[in-house]
Amino acid sequence: MDFNMLVDAVSQNSTFLEQTLSSTIKKDDYTARLFDIYKQVLKEGIAQTVFLGLNRSDYMFQCSADGSKALKQIEINTISASFGGLASRTPAVHRHVLNVLKKTKEAAKILSNNPSKGLALGIAKAWELYGSANAVVLLIAQEKERNIFDQRAIENELLDRNIHVIRRRFEDVSERGSLDQNRKLFMDGQEVAVVYFRDGYIPSQYNPQNWEARLLLERSCAAKCPDIATQLAGTKKVQQELSRVGLLEVLLPGQPEAVARLRATFAGLYSLDMGEEGDQAIAEALAAPNHFVLKPQREGGGNNLYGEEMVQALEQLKDSEERASYILMEKIEPEPFGNCLLRPGSPARVVQCISELGIFGVYVRQGTTLVMNEHVGHLLRTKAIEHADGGVAAGVAVLDNPYPV
Ligand code: ADP
Ligand code: MG
Repeated sequence: MDFNMLVDAVSQNSTFLEQTLSSTIKKDDYTARLFDIYKQVLKEGIAQTVFLGLNRSDYMFQCSADGSKALKQIEINTISASFGGLASRTPAVHRHVLNVLKKTKEAAKILSNNPSKGLALGIAKAWELYGSANAVVLLIAQEKERNIFDQRAIENELLDRNIHVIRRRFEDVSERGSLDQNRKLFMDGQEVAVVYFRDGYIPSQYNPQNWEARLLLERSCAAKCPDIATQLAGTKKVQQELSRVGLLEVLLPGQPEAVARLRATFAGLYSLDMGEEGDQAIAEALAAPNHFVLKPQREGGGNNLYGEEMVQALEQLKDSEERASYILMEKIEPEPFGNCLLRPGSPARVVQCISELGIFGVYVRQGTTLVMNEHVGHLLRTKAIEHADGGVAAGVAVLDNPYPV
């Protein structure tokens, strides 16, 4: 809930976004395109009055030398945060397996989890506040979607509340989407109350036509999840900048407890902008490569650099302004444990694993009033320790459940 407030505050602070991303957008075309749309929308005036955030903040347990453990944030996902649907189904899988093994007591300890319901309630609230009984939710879908059942869980929850979801691609929007004179959004003749992006979070998902469609959606008065500012608030550069001393206090004035809770989850985050601070961060990473991760402004797993690859990249980037499109992060070292990763085609055997815990957050703002701010469930992903990077979609991690002891 603290992170919901923080993301929402950042998304409304154009000065902060502009300053923070100024060096990044010079060297990262993708972030620059998003920023361009942001500027265009600001210039024209923001038409939407209802704002919807469906976030997932991801953490790992940092294991310190003295044996203490603390949850440290890996990143926050403000666009297309996935697996809320599937994570709602996995408790039943593990309970079933344990029951088959006659471990009834253990089965009862698996935590219940239903993020799809909470995510849908957020969309439903935004839909309701938009205030048009016949309007639909437009889910921006990929042409070939492997994770459709994750999305269907949310769609079905909405349908149970008599809210209809239409699935369209960016291409469909550019061909058949339109705005009326009040910037109401229409898709195939139907008014759209909420746009829910499950596409458009990496560069390869955009061509010129898709960028046009994104701009059209952003200019509309439909509630976007996320709007372009909130997507930018989820960039790794913003995450790094938020860790600077004193910044949280500025963004969340009068909320020292929230600030302290947020700060406690921050790992070491370092700017690579040109200058002394960036030079020093690079020198430290080169001296101890196993303690750092190099991150570009990308989502979806598989983009970060570790170890020898990171060293090579840093050597190359060191003297070029391109380095500003990356950030450096302290590498979190959770304590490994033995577990069995079940995947098709490979035998079940116990391997050393680490887990990453995601917490789903939902918020809805109408004008300047936050009308909903909740956490709605969790996602546990577990992977073998030999994989530095990568989530479930990247084929590395598996869906899991926390087992409280
Ligand atoms: P993406 O947006 O691509 O998901 P992440 O920052 O979540 O980027 O990184 C992808 C994966 O890399 C994470 O799921 C995690 O397994 C690993 N990872 C990222 N940052 C760190 C870190 N600081 N320490 C340890 N592992 C990390
Ligand atoms: Mg991630």
